[in-house]
Amino acid sequence: MRIRRRYRIVGVVQGVGFRPFVYGIARRHELAGFVLNDGDGVVIEVEGAEPALERFATALVDEAPALARVDSVEAGSLAPLGGRAFTIEASVSHGGSALIPADVATCDECLRELFDPTDRRYRYPFVNCTQCGPRFTIVTGVPYDRGRTTMAGFPLCADCRSEYEDPADRRFHAEPIACPVCGPRLSLPLEEAVALLEDGAILAVKGLGGYHLACDAADEEAVARLRARKHREEKPFALMTAEPEQLVHAGAEELALLRSRARPIVLARRRADAPVAPSVAPATPWLGVMLPYTPLHHLLLADFGGALVLTSGNRSDEPIAYEDDEARERLSAIADAFLAHDRPIHRRCEDSVVRAEFPIRRSRGFVPAALPLPIEARRPLVAGGAELKSTFCVARGASAYLSPHLGDLDSELALRAFHADLALYLAMLGVEPAVVAHDLHPEYLATKWALEQEAELVPVQHHHAHAAACLAEHGSEGPALALVFDGTGYGTDGTLWGGELLRCDLVSVERLAHLEPIPLPGGEAAIRQPWRTAAAYLERARRPVPFERWGVVRQALAVNAPLSSGMGRLFDAVSALLGVREQVTYEGQAAIELEVLAGSTAAEPYPWRFGDGAALVAAAHDDLAAGRPRAEIAAAFHETVAAGAAGACAEAAEPRTVVLSGGSFQNLRLLSSTRRRLEELGFRVLTHRLVPPNDAGISYGQAAIAAAVTGSGSLAAPSG
Ligand code: ZN
Ligand code: ZN
Ligand code: FE
Repeated sequence: MRIRRRYRIVGVVQGVGFRPFVYGIARRHELAGFVLNDGDGVVIEVEGAEPALERFATALVDEAPALARVDSVEAGSLAPLGGRAFTIEASVSHGGSALIPADVATCDECLRELFDPTDRRYRYPFVNCTQCGPRFTIVTGVPYDRGRTTMAGFPLCADCRSEYEDPADRRFHAEPIACPVCGPRLSLPLEEAVALLEDGAILAVKGLGGYHLACDAADEEAVARLRARKHREEKPFALMTAEPEQLVHAGAEELALLRSRARPIVLARRRADAPVAPSVAPATPWLGVMLPYTPLHHLLLADFGGALVLTSGNRSDEPIAYEDDEARERLSAIADAFLAHDRPIHRRCEDSVVRAEFPIRRSRGFVPAALPLPIEARRPLVAGGAELKSTFCVARGASAYLSPHLGDLDSELALRAFHADLALYLAMLGVEPAVVAHDLHPEYLATKWALEQEAELVPVQHHHAHAAACLAEHGSEGPALALVFDGTGYGTDGTLWGGELLRCDLVSVERLAHLEPIPLPGGEAAIRQPWRTAAAYLERARRPVPFERWGVVRQALAVNAPLSSGMGRLFDAVSALLGVREQVTYEGQAAIELEVLAGSTAAEPYPWRFGDGAALVAAAHDDLAAGRPRAEIAAAFHETVAAGAAGACAEAAEPRTVVLSGGSFQNLRLLSSTRRRLEELGFRVLTHRLVPPNDAGISYGQAAIAAAVTGSGSLAAPSG
């Protein structure tokens, strides 16, 4: 007996080869009907004998394309219409909320064509297919169709059209396909670009989600010039290489990350003999490396032959430039030449960065994939995030959509990017926010933005948001204990927090213990000059202050010295005390270099009860005066913080789960020692895997809290 069924499939099912896949299995089972994209996903009608339909339904789930993520399948029965043909029909457009996939690195088959002299796409820098290529960064609307991508201005040539229309071709209905006849072109011949790089020039290269600045990674003079022009003094540059084994000791895990479809920048230990200029990554044994992920990158690296510095096209921590005119304007003082092309970028998206098991920056290759919300957002909401490493987060139902990395939200340029990117995200998701979550810090631009919105506002304390982000990514509502260690976050008492033991769930939070606040002499100046914080701690500890300028700077204590309980500041103080870093040129530098000094040196913790940072600084000071090796002191300091934090959890006793969050937990020694000690005490420990422990994860935590609060009650202010 002939029957007809209709399926509605929701999830990441557009731009992943889903319609060609459905076409293939329908034909295999000799079914009639059609498949199409609409604003919400994929609609299928199939008609045939019942056993064949059953096999079709099984294949639909079991054989779905690797890039697809099916969230739900709704099935219904219809009256049979007859007919034998199965077709891919034109998309039905009515706006909607279909999910756009992340950008995907060039697949092996496309790569083979790229380097095959007999292929018609030989050395064509925009080769792609249903399994690879740009998506998130070129899609201008849903349903996903060439007309709603930035490829709309490139009509298919006859050859590309026949591939597009041939069910047997691997480019059947691949929307962004192109070839040298009909597709985008480079603005500069590749040979010229390579010659410029060989001459030590700095090249602005248009990538997937923005412009990069590139130069020869082995050319010290070129790298130093790039640093000077970009106003980036010492923060390490990322490298792109086809042969990561020459630069870093990459274990199986790192190699798997490097080769994953997202192709993030992976932090790995540099090889002693890595052919890399000293200025690439001063004072660190780590290098950030990534593999080429677009055909243009593959060609550039193959022709150039060595590794390239490939850093965001911007000045220091501004948003990355992605529009052509804007890039010319902002980057012409930095780059000697431009390697651009005429395929527009619709959305800004920076490279992602991962270290060990957690992301430091979750951006290209990951966004806009949904993150879970343990408590559903009953009304759509937006969370504005923090200030440094800014992101925002849009949520509806059980899904949260974290934005790409925006850079530091501390300038007019960054604020404009925030507005523009948020508008694009809301349009993409078809969301009008009814709820807006924000940090308590009155000076954050994202807070000021939130306060102007006509929506229900949910203020969220910074460290509660960190803890909630970690809970939420594990699908947990809590309650849990939370060790949240970072540099700075606004507390409910108007001081700066950041060395916190909280007990919380997604609605309520209690401050159980914290580092004792220390005055930061000169405020922001103390964050740039860790020696000031060291001096404040040494005075508190009744130890001599070895810094000459203290005589003058000390007066700041009386006029401008905000109180801080930040763990990052305690790391700063010890770093300065040990002579590692008295001044920093990027956020976290003093702590990062202290971790490097500690390395894997063995050391027992000092006897210390969590809270009094000055006692710990005193112990380090006395050891230093006694001539103990600095690496041992740095190691003992790390172990003491971990042991003290675990001890504070043991005192709190309940609940038996501890989340670890905040930027300080990007420190692998602190993270692993704290986790081990907590597990020895019998705690279950949750750490970040999906979102960054740093402030880039704040907006997601705010969203999880706002969903819980507006779904189930009111937010209790932290006590204590
Ligand atoms: Zn491909
Ligand atoms: Zn073509
Ligand atoms: Fe933070």
